Amino acid sequence: MGLLLLRGRVEDANPSAGEGRHQPGVQHVEPDDAVRSAGAALPAWRDTSPAVRGELLYRWAELVREHDDDINRLAAIEVGHPVGPSPIAARLTYLAGKADKVFGDTLPTRSPNVLGLTLREPYGVVGAIIPWNAPGPMTVFNTAAPIAAGNTVVLKPAEDAPLTALCLARLAQEAGIPPGVLNVVTGYGAEAGAVLPAHPGIRKMSFTGSPSTGTAVMEACARNLIPLQLELGGKSPQIVLPDADLDRAVPAIVRSIVMNSGQVCAAGSRVLVHSSLHGRLVEALAERFRAVRVGLWDQPVDMGTLINARQEKRVLDYLAIGRAEGAEVVVGGGKLTEPPYADGYFVEPTLFDQVRPEMRIAQEEIFGPVLSVLTYDDEDEAVAIANGTRYGLTATVWTRDIGRAVRLARRVEAGQVAVNTVGDGGPTGSIGTPFGGYRNSGFGRSMGPDYLEDWTQVKAVVIDAS
Ligand code: NAD
Repeated sequence: MGLLLLRGRVEDANPSAGEGRHQPGVQHVEPDDAVRSAGAALPAWRDTSPAVRGELLYRWAELVREHDDDINRLAAIEVGHPVGPSPIAARLTYLAGKADKVFGDTLPTRSPNVLGLTLREPYGVVGAIIPWNAPGPMTVFNTAAPIAAGNTVVLKPAEDAPLTALCLARLAQEAGIPPGVLNVVTGYGAEAGAVLPAHPGIRKMSFTGSPSTGTAVMEACARNLIPLQLELGGKSPQIVLPDADLDRAVPAIVRSIVMNSGQVCAAGSRVLVHSSLHGRLVEALAERFRAVRVGLWDQPVDMGTLINARQEKRVLDYLAIGRAEGAEVVVGGGKLTEPPYADGYFVEPTLFDQVRPEMRIAQEEIFGPVLSVLTYDDEDEAVAIANGTRYGLTATVWTRDIGRAVRLARRVEAGQVAVNTVGDGGPTGSIGTPFGGYRNSGFGRSMGPDYLEDWTQVKAVVIDAS
């Protein structure tokens, strides 16, 4: 397997390792070596003052901000989406600020001579496996918090998009985060990835990816008796109530499903519309879908290519499945083949109407630019459809009625519910918003007020001073 461990700066690299395949700052190693490297770096990093760890993370954030354009272009080239703004530096800054705000408790005691307290200590060496669809944010979400909390990390990015992760790790080292604290092991999942959750040196894992791989990783963690934070896919509903502001809802709904060609776990892939509004909404969505600009990553477009042939086949298969199930294609429905699309995996943004809740296109994650419209007659039915898949990652409610918004936000089973916006609301939305799934979408939350604590374990200390 072609494995890389990014450690040390260019001048630190050991030229004797992997002779002939050597790249500056990069050594060819096995995942085992990466775990060893992380283990060697652990004692000093664990004992580094949290304030210093925070400072180093701030510096990392600054370097990321300085190189924002390059990082965004690199991710765009890897994944195929158009270059766009990135939340990475802001999230890093948020996590850096938390490094010295991890607190234990003092405990009540039965004697005044006794002091009882809890310490929050890092797990040790932790592992992270991430998918290809958002390599920058995924790298930061899954490494910065454990590092800030005093762990050292071995990260396995997806084989289709390892460069952004390597670039961010390089910047971490340039920021002064010591070699061995953040290690990146590239390679195929079954080879490089599978090693981590089974490795006796790994004390906690995070995994983001598909449910099938997540199950395999969880089985390996169970055998290794280590905890796991799991982020899987979604089939997120966009519930449109009769009083919704369509001028606001329609662009956001379309953006949510064409962003990154729908290869977003939180994509709002199901629209649940009240029957009184159905015709108007489908018309407005269709108009917007037809206006989506598709093109190459360096063009001012709304949507790029899918990442690879496998993903293209997956999406085209679902388009065929939808038709066979009786759904009606309103816009799109096929592959784009004319230049400039001939050399990529370009699929038309597709709007399906007349979708029923039991159809596969309404149940399964397509991970493509495919939106299904389903109709409901009352709030109970909307909730039943929204909660009627295996997933529960995100949901959106579009309404002007605050009472209904509150009711639905409570009744929909999802880790994140947005009202009149999508996700955490982007740059103007809430800061440090916890992200993660209900049900088969996974467990554990990235970001959020307790995120660093998740990467610590509690030690109770009782001191008898009598
Ligand atoms: P995937 O499960 O195939 O791969 C994810 C990662 O796991 C990759 O790094 C891969 O190399 C690795 N891997 C594969 N087999 C492995 C094994 N046996 N042991 C250990 N690691 C292994 O998923 P993908 O195709 O890369 O990504 C798409 C999926 O990820 C979609 O289902 C999507 O919804 C999900 N996703 C979820 C989130 C989230 O936050 N919930 C975010 C992004 C993507």
